[in-house]
Amino acid sequence: MDLINCPVCEHQILSRIGTICPNCGHTVKYFEGNKKRKEYSKYFALSIFVPFTSFLIVLFSAVNKIAFFTAIILFIILAVYTIPLRYNKLFFTNYEKYLFWGIWLLGNGLIVTMIYNLLNKL
Ligand SMILES: [Zn+2]
Repeated sequence: MDLINCPVCEHQILSRIGTICPNCGHTVKYFEGNKKRKEYSKYFALSIFVPFTSFLIVLFSAVNKIAFFTAIILFIILAVYTIPLRYNKLFFTNYEKYLFWGIWLLGNGLIVTMIYNLLNKL
């Protein structure tokens, strides 16, 4: 188990969520634990932000063929970049893993459907 410094008194404690510092009584919260928790919160924001951005880029690029195909390539790169498979070590529980796979599949699935529909109109 990793150790962190207590954010209140700097005493060394376990990074696990819910750990109570024996020195000052501070309880380790969800996002404050170790470095992984910080990466986790960053990834959480990314997994919402990236599909949303891809969606807008693909939608607004559809007026021009070259822009549209560039947007599709960008979308694929971003989708691969945020795939939960690459962040397996960030997840503490299976629930978190399935949650992120759900978000990823739903977000990117919608965009793939949209691209497919737009391609048929070209
Ligand atoms: Zn403390």
